[in-house]
Amino acid sequence: MTHILVAGGGIGGLATALAQARAGHRVTVLEGRPGFTEIGAGIQLAPNAFRALADLGVRDGVTARADFIDALHFMNGITGEQITAMPLTGAYRARFGNPYAVVHRADLHRTLLDGCRGAGVELLGGQRVTHYTQPGARVVAHTAAGARFTADVLLGADGLRSSVREQLVGDGPPRVSGHTIYRSVIPMSEVPESLRARAVTLWAGPAWHFVHYPIGGGAYLNLAATRDDRATEELTGVPASRAHVRAEFDRLADRASRLLELGRDWRTWVLCDRDPVETWVDGRVALLGDAAHPMLQYAAQGACMALEDAVTLGSLLRCADEDIPRRLEEYNVVRRERTARTTLTARWMGAELYHPAGTRAEDRDALLSGHSTARLHDAVAWLHGGGDEGGGT
Ligand SMILES: Cc1cc2nc3c(=O)[nH]c(=O)nc-3n(C[C@H](O)[C@H](O)[C@H](O)COP(=O)(O)OP(=O)(O)OC[C@H]3O[C@@H](n4cnc5c(N)ncnc54)[C@H](O)[C@@H]3O)c2cc1C
Repeated sequence: MTHILVAGGGIGGLATALAQARAGHRVTVLEGRPGFTEIGAGIQLAPNAFRALADLGVRDGVTARADFIDALHFMNGITGEQITAMPLTGAYRARFGNPYAVVHRADLHRTLLDGCRGAGVELLGGQRVTHYTQPGARVVAHTAAGARFTADVLLGADGLRSSVREQLVGDGPPRVSGHTIYRSVIPMSEVPESLRARAVTLWAGPAWHFVHYPIGGGAYLNLAATRDDRATEELTGVPASRAHVRAEFDRLADRASRLLELGRDWRTWVLCDRDPVETWVDGRVALLGDAAHPMLQYAAQGACMALEDAVTLGSLLRCADEDIPRRLEEYNVVRRERTARTTLTARWMGAELYHPAGTRAEDRDALLSGHSTARLHDAVAWLHGGGDEGGGT
């Protein structure tokens, strides 16, 4: 029986472990933290993610806990006017075959974890992988505690600061984007009726934007306000005062400002990504998820791409044999272009859609407001359609 090691038990690692176990392999997940948990708030999942979840046999478990989103509203954050709205029901759902939804990160993680347990995946906490070696036709993962795990394949799903990537690609620390995001979750009962909607609403301003959407079965509203402030240091979850957040977004239109005012226990992240690279494979070792292609959250696709990676790896290694290195090379070829395009599109969305100022913002408003619903759906088809439709942005 082929034995697969997965370094990292986040969304990408667990999805990959599940895909490999469903393909009939013995799977061991080595997670650096003591246990298998996921923190954070809502995460948007487009139809391509639900299609991957269906392939993994856990779509129903995730949809049972999801908040379905009816539309994406794109607003001018200064004037408060709606620039455009993309419906996500009806024609959208019929075309892409799955819903657009928001799930709590912990719910998605727990569903994948339950799936792994049910499929017999071995889950080992407190095993931080430091490096690997490849003696003969085997691979050995070495951990910080001095343990060694020998198997046929090592899949590095160890996130933005991946140790497996450090050895395999060696391209140093991730790129600090210079964008700071402030996040908060508030009870929906505090939100004025006129501001409640089953929508992702984005208010775009000069070098900043503000997004909100319902989570927790509509019981909460997730707030995320981002500023291009040229921050140079990566931050994860550092507290910020309400006064600071309000001051950073003082030009926000009244209606959106009322929501921002309701935010509390704000936490700060400084976002990072990496330039796409050609190769994530070295013999019997491959990368996936953020270890392979970390991206800014502006296309809301990082986790969706990790789920797609998991499904592709599951299908390519289904008949794992002596050809493992060749099959991993094939995985690299199949996934490279799509994930690189998504990474660069996420950067482009930040610069050209969410943050432009002055005449560039006016041009954006004119362009987007002139698009029909069908044209908007065409623009996301290559991404939300899961790679079946070419399309363009
Ligand atoms: C603010 C923000 C909003 C986002 N919103 C969205 C969204 O709406 N939609 C979307 O699709 N994506 C979104 N993303 C992206 C998404 O969160 C990530 O792409 C996704 O979580 C990546 O999963 P992963 O499993 O590859 O990595 P991670 O989630 O980072 O998991 C890595 C795991 O590996 C473990 N680990 C680390 N090092 C080691 C080691 N050396 N050995 C063993 N284990 C190790 C970690 O403890 C962790 O459990 C967002 C990201 C951010 C920052």
